[in-house]
Amino acid sequence: MKKFLASSVLATAALFPVLVNAEELNLPANMLVGQKVEIRSGATTSYPLVTSLSTGKTVTVIDEFTNSSGELWYRVDLGTNKGWGLASSFKEQTTGNSGIQIGKQAAITGDNVNVRKGATTSYEAIAKLSKGTSVKVIDSFKNSSGELWYRIESGTIKGWIIEDYLKADAEVKPPAPATETKTVQIDKAPVRKGATDSYSIVTYVNKNQAVTIIDTFKNAKGEVWYRADLGSVQGWIKETAFQAVTLPPAPETGTKTVMIDKAPVRKGATDSYRIVAYAEKNQKVNIIDSFKNASGELWYRADLGAVQGWIKETAFQAGSLPPAPETPDLPAIGSYVYSQVNSLDVRRGATSSYQSVGKLSLNQKVKVLDHFVPSSGEAWLRVQVNASLAGWIPADSASANQTINTKLYVSVDVANMRSGPSLSHSVIDQASKGAELTASETAKDSTGDLWYKVKTSSGNIAWVHETVVSKQPSVSIGTTMLVGTMNAALYAGASYDYKISERLSYNSKVSVLGEFTNSLGQRWIRIKSASGKTGWTPEYELVTSQNVFKYVFAKKGAVIRKGAGTNYGVSAYLAESESLKILRKLNGWLNVENAKGTRGWVLETQTTTVSAKRLSSPAYSTVNGENYLTWIKPSNFAVSYTTLSANRLKITGAMTDVELPKGSIKGIKSIETFASGSQKSVVLTFEPGYSFTLRDYSNKVSVKIVPFGLLGKKIVVDAGHGGHDAGAVGPTGLREKDVNLGTALLLKSELEKYGATVILTRSTDVFLELAERTAIANNSTADAFISIHGDSFSSTSKGTTTYYNSTVNFNGPRSETMGTAIQKNMISSMNTYNRGVKEQNFYVNRMNQLPSVLVELAFISNPKEEALLKTTAFRQKAAVGITKGLEEYFNNF
Ligand SMILES: [Zn+2]
Repeated sequence: MKKFLASSVLATAALFPVLVNAEELNLPANMLVGQKVEIRSGATTSYPLVTSLSTGKTVTVIDEFTNSSGELWYRVDLGTNKGWGLASSFKEQTTGNSGIQIGKQAAITGDNVNVRKGATTSYEAIAKLSKGTSVKVIDSFKNSSGELWYRIESGTIKGWIIEDYLKADAEVKPPAPATETKTVQIDKAPVRKGATDSYSIVTYVNKNQAVTIIDTFKNAKGEVWYRADLGSVQGWIKETAFQAVTLPPAPETGTKTVMIDKAPVRKGATDSYRIVAYAEKNQKVNIIDSFKNASGELWYRADLGAVQGWIKETAFQAGSLPPAPETPDLPAIGSYVYSQVNSLDVRRGATSSYQSVGKLSLNQKVKVLDHFVPSSGEAWLRVQVNASLAGWIPADSASANQTINTKLYVSVDVANMRSGPSLSHSVIDQASKGAELTASETAKDSTGDLWYKVKTSSGNIAWVHETVVSKQPSVSIGTTMLVGTMNAALYAGASYDYKISERLSYNSKVSVLGEFTNSLGQRWIRIKSASGKTGWTPEYELVTSQNVFKYVFAKKGAVIRKGAGTNYGVSAYLAESESLKILRKLNGWLNVENAKGTRGWVLETQTTTVSAKRLSSPAYSTVNGENYLTWIKPSNFAVSYTTLSANRLKITGAMTDVELPKGSIKGIKSIETFASGSQKSVVLTFEPGYSFTLRDYSNKVSVKIVPFGLLGKKIVVDAGHGGHDAGAVGPTGLREKDVNLGTALLLKSELEKYGATVILTRSTDVFLELAERTAIANNSTADAFISIHGDSFSSTSKGTTTYYNSTVNFNGPRSETMGTAIQKNMISSMNTYNRGVKEQNFYVNRMNQLPSVLVELAFISNPKEEALLKTTAFRQKAAVGITKGLEEYFNNF
């Protein structure tokens, strides 16, 4: 029966130069041990150990099994016994044309084959080998393009050749004679994969052991290392191991028992390194090294058979570790990153020992072409600098974000601020937890720590260490926050790679359990959702109030796309000045959500941080003895207002920003802005004894600040009808236009007694169009408009009415207040039937921009009221009532 091996792409691909070929294999299959492997009686590490196999051994794979952790294991037949080993430790025995094996000889099959410094054609050729040349194969590597390359050695030449130009050499030549033998002088000298202490330990050699040296190398630190051939394994030993001196104490070794569930095993000895495996509770692990990192944490290097890695000391202590989210992948190939430091070396290869071929300035933008993670764990990015230059930079020196003008928040109780970017610089200031700082620059100190250049509250320039600040205001564990976005989700871990376990409802409450900044600098919050589920969500989904978001505003023609590129589809077309919540930034694109909940990417250049819908440039001025506070409107958007208790005027509308005036303004106690989502409002609190006349123009909003009383007020008095338009005519022939003009003239005199100024729309018997009447009001800086009319219906209709409009008139709220005061005082003065204050759509009120009313004094169609309207005494009572009403209106806020 034909059986296939499952293809498997392993997360640890970059660790092991040779992987199990992902192609299907017939079982049984002969395979090579690619890496020392423990053979167990079952397909998990919890089964008893049967034996362990060294690199290079050939075994027969007779079965395969994917266990509940998703690990693929092989059952191998060892002749005398059988057992299970982790599949990633095996590699396919090449049986095709090449048949190449590590450690064995191979022959060059092409003419003038390039030997390159690295395992892609982008590396420089360091030698050419002619057809038939016999070379020793010392390593292999499958690059990100899927090409298999072999590292070969031929005389003094060492480098990489693509598999196409190599075949297994039939005449296996004897290994090159050893150049030297050296005797180990210290106990337990580590033999490492590479020629620095950061490489992993492959084995140890003992004191007085004689080893065969096959190579030497002076690394970038100037240390001499020897490559030793120990038979089953080759590796690098530091020169000091052959000198009779004392090395630092040997690391603690032995076995340790994991005390917590699912302890992460990392590539390096800090929490920021990638997780390569998990160790289970009660699992005994072999400790081969220990290391105290810069934060003072003790880490143990564990050999788990299939993989080696670092486990934090706390995993071996009873108690629980905080959840350790997996650090996400490196920036995507094809994406852009910014240099985080100035004068960053771009190197020919992916270690700092390679030659620098160029430099990047701070925030220089480069395209990511490739990744490489050497065994030291430090990831490198191959980047395109310009059309003619590409090279390698350390991944931690690049970021998807520019660093200038970054807001930082002090994350410790007291942060020291120093005169320069290192701990040796003096402390010149301090900032307390939560303080907001703006970083203008970054720098790395000699130990590689990042420092931010910031401005202190006293205006000095200082430097703060990366560990004392956060790019977000810190969240408090145990507090409740709100979901601030429409599309928030709960993830199983602190990266987008994790599964979504739940959608989070807008404005629902969540409890904060913890936080984590992943290696891409993305801050994630661990929460318990409203439904009780626990998980992770990006920090930008949560707010303490819905008003804390930063917004940008769409320019004309802006669109939201499904991804951060113009090749992505459009998910929403945006209105000009539409406000957008900024969630995050990436390479000149903003991840945003609009008010309808559409989330996606908008080009930053298609947005503006300054909305056209804002009240800007507040100015205080005095014109003809009147005091104004005026805001400019960059575009014509609608505003409205209401009055609140305690002398407060609230101006609202489709405004996204309000600039506050500086300094004090006579008559105004305070001015504050309030936010509701992206909308802003401004509240002016007036001093006692002051009120306002508010006007909304297409290009400005003006607040006339007026003291109480009629003195100095400007009032437009409009006598209805006139000329050929008599208005209503009474039973005895009394014409409304004459009643209106007569009363208007009396009202003018009455108001002038109190120091008010009156503007008459007509002072004689002439006809005016309605639009002419409102134009007089709208073009004035008057405080009120009164139109005087007589009513007409039937002979029994009676009484006085005041009308206003609030559906169109911007000053509807004030018109109603004024109308109420006028109606009340007219009734008490004229002693007529009170028909009330009514909303109506009369043109002179509707098209008026001033607080505006129309009064119907009495019914000219009613003989009794016609008789009253004929008399100067009654008209004078009307004028007195209206004046008292206006006085009351101007004496109250
Ligand atoms: Zn009329």
